[in-house]
Amino acid sequence: MFPRLILKETLIKKSQQKKRISLCNYKERLFVLDTQDLKYSDCRPGRNPRLKGCIELCRIECVEIVCSQHPIPCNYKYPFQVFYNHFYLYIFAPDSDCRQRWVSALKEATKGNIMVAKYHPDFWMDGKWRCCQQTEKLAAGCQAYDPGGSASKEPLSELPGPKAGLQDAEERTVVALHDYTPVRGDDLALQKDQQYSLINGCHGDWWAVRDGQGNTGFVPRTYVEEKSSNNFQRFKWYNKNTTRGEAEDLLMKQGKEGGFMMRDSRQTGVYTVSVFTKAPGANGEKNPRVKHYQIRQAESGEARFYVAEKYLFSTIPELIRYHQHNGAGLITRLRHPVSRDGSVSQDVADPSKDQWEVDPEQLTLGQELGSGQFGLVLEGRWRDKKVAVKTIREECMSEEEFKEEAGVMMRLSHCKLVQLYAVRTQRSPMCLVFEFMDNGCLSDFLQARRGRLSQEAMSGMCLDVSEGMAYLESSNFIHRDLAARNCLVSKNNEVKISDFGMARFVLDDQYTSSQCSKFPIRWSAPEVIKFCKFSSKSDVWSFGVLMWEVFSEGRLPYENHSNVDVVESLNRGQRLLKPSSAPDAIHRVMERCWKENPEDRPSFAVLRPELASLSHLKM
Ligand code: ADP
Repeated sequence: MFPRLILKETLIKKSQQKKRISLCNYKERLFVLDTQDLKYSDCRPGRNPRLKGCIELCRIECVEIVCSQHPIPCNYKYPFQVFYNHFYLYIFAPDSDCRQRWVSALKEATKGNIMVAKYHPDFWMDGKWRCCQQTEKLAAGCQAYDPGGSASKEPLSELPGPKAGLQDAEERTVVALHDYTPVRGDDLALQKDQQYSLINGCHGDWWAVRDGQGNTGFVPRTYVEEKSSNNFQRFKWYNKNTTRGEAEDLLMKQGKEGGFMMRDSRQTGVYTVSVFTKAPGANGEKNPRVKHYQIRQAESGEARFYVAEKYLFSTIPELIRYHQHNGAGLITRLRHPVSRDGSVSQDVADPSKDQWEVDPEQLTLGQELGSGQFGLVLEGRWRDKKVAVKTIREECMSEEEFKEEAGVMMRLSHCKLVQLYAVRTQRSPMCLVFEFMDNGCLSDFLQARRGRLSQEAMSGMCLDVSEGMAYLESSNFIHRDLAARNCLVSKNNEVKISDFGMARFVLDDQYTSSQCSKFPIRWSAPEVIKFCKFSSKSDVWSFGVLMWEVFSEGRLPYENHSNVDVVESLNRGQRLLKPSSAPDAIHRVMERCWKENPEDRPSFAVLRPELASLSHLKM
């Protein structure tokens, strides 16, 4: 029987890079789907198409759209994937309908196959899965696959069941934090402050929501926040029916600085945060001790919940998340959620914690690369890789705190972050092993190339940083010291962010207090200078200053002004001036990063696509 033609269209195919050294490219191909095969040929004007590949339908194990926030580097912006014979083929359609047509037709044509149980909703890129961060290309998928579902509806129809561990009996509501204009056919428009029903919050970077008119679609996860103020049953730190005495016993037994939990107060509908500290009290309190803070509610306003008066939040989870990173009026920051079943937070109880510890046999140290905040930085070799090793001078770093955070930092992994590979904590001096960056720090790089950098190269650098920062933001991780000096440049001139979160472990008072000489005032948002209120939006301010540094080719911001002058001019509403090399559009982005009110600054999720469209060369 002859195969019957099902679909025939020109689409874009990403090279499969079956060999490690093969280049990544995107080529137009004429795709033909018939009842036997999926074939693709090159499209040469005026000549017969030449067959470039043929996949037998019986070999296909998964066909699905790809949901990705990553900028699509070709003209067709609607990707889908075909997994067969252990290979992933990424195909890009020109519009959502076309993609829907192909995915549905392929699913229909492969109905009789044995398909995978789970698949990867995002791309395999730069050596890892963007959805689940696994680094093995053939690692099992991270999301249930529905071979019968139609392309764009499938992910929406899967309600997060109890297995997801996310769903309470009531439907979850989210509130839009920003307006969102759909960029793909299956996105949904958001209007700031409007409420939406959450259909599926398991899709990593993209959540499926429904608006008041019943329209459904995907929205970036960072554009919405859960509404319900008491939707915290799923959090480890919430211990229902726990008395004050039980909380004290549990926290004292754990004995972890910053161990905390939230419990019901005796007063119905009121919650208390209990936190353990060894810090000596000013009024002769017993030491160590557990301190209890009732969560209070302001009379009015959208942001109502607080434990420390200056910091109000719309929901309790937001409040807890904030105080996990900032003491801000509490005796200590909320470091380790403790739950009644006796477990402490993930990183402390994590049995794999030691996997990050460097085997001394595997690490060799070489010549000095430079000297940093914590000590010397040396070149080294670790597991056959060239690495940079930061040695930590005694008394420079809050080592205990760092060790507890190290696991979290090592799990952060993105192509625009300088990867922390491993640590040596069991021998002195403590060492941190990082990805090696051949071209050193960004501020030196810029200064050394003054007058020779194109605008495209400069916007490309800002785009790199915005990509890494968007990842940190979506991981709820605050950098706290973003500046060109804390970015490094790779061999192929890619800029990556370094030192994320490290400011928390500095023990030098000159650096940690905004009143002191080493505090990075010139990069700090007003709310950081005034109240030490760090957030992803204070990182956005610093990012604006970093953009200024890039377009000023490594000059010091507010050159010839003292720190005091800088603070005064900021208070008067003055801002850095437009660098002469910066196009107006770039300067407008900087100015939005320097809005007085953090809420008015764009998030990195918004900045990244904007910069992508401004830096044509990188697209
Ligand atoms: P710190 O942030 O702790 O003060 P830095 O990160 O600035 O220290 O490191 C000091 C110098 O060491 C940098 O200017 C750079 O030249 C070099 N260096 C740091 N990290 C790396 C790395 N990952 N790869 C290559 N060189 C590095």
